[in-house]
Amino acid sequence: MFEQWHFQVAPYTEFPCRENDLCLLFNPAGELLPAAEDHGLIHFCGYGNYAGQQPHDAAFLGYWEGKRCYAVTLTEQDCETRKFSSLREILAQQDAELSCLACMGKQLLDWRQHTRYCSACGGLLQEKTAERARLCPACGQLYYPRISPAVIVAVHRDEKILLAHNVNFAPGVYSLVAGYVEAGESLEQAVAREVQEEVGLHIRAIRYWGSQAWPFPSTLMVGFEADYDSGSIRPDGQEISEADWYALDQLPSLPRPGSISRRIIDSLCARQ
Ligand SMILES: [Zn+2]
Repeated sequence: MFEQWHFQVAPYTEFPCRENDLCLLFNPAGELLPAAEDHGLIHFCGYGNYAGQQPHDAAFLGYWEGKRCYAVTLTEQDCETRKFSSLREILAQQDAELSCLACMGKQLLDWRQHTRYCSACGGLLQEKTAERARLCPACGQLYYPRISPAVIVAVHRDEKILLAHNVNFAPGVYSLVAGYVEAGESLEQAVAREVQEEVGLHIRAIRYWGSQAWPFPSTLMVGFEADYDSGSIRPDGQEISEADWYALDQLPSLPRPGSISRRIIDSLCARQ
């Protein structure tokens, strides 16, 4: 899949963004401005057409068909009359390549916005040359974009899968069990622990499915499948209020397309 992509991630360079460079345009809240020409996300005419003043920030992403491509945050003033869309909505509609680019842009702009001062000495950080990092010139501390790994798992039992309702979900929506990886844990240990903690089950045969960036704000979701081993479902009552086994042809309401949870469930249905 990746070899046919237009986009290529590049090592960090110090090229400043010019007003006619290809870009994805964000508002300060992290929402995206769809491109009017083709309803895609890339503005081929650059930010110059949309900005009356210098943008708030710009992050170099890589190359789109050989041309430099940036994520740009416009100022509040330049955003006023335009209709931006939430990234979650966009992920539900766009193809994998543009979704990936949008996630990368959102995550890097967030990181730049929240990584301006050294947490060790309070010094103002500078861009590091030759890699995507920020450097404290006073004490030498380096800051890289933060990525927080989380696991998500489809647990199989006979012909059914385990789905759970998280208390933060919309009413009636069920998804796969998921959670953040603890420091010092392997991904597989995190999968087993989350299932045990959230629904009280033991699982086995944990196997990798795939992964997806989820920039809300900096998660890398790592997907797995596993088989039921023992125990009966006991929702923890904190995060998970209900959970049950569902046949793939009798599923409840699911998370919207674009999420890895939905991609895993859709792939299991397609495999049947
Ligand atoms: Zn410092």
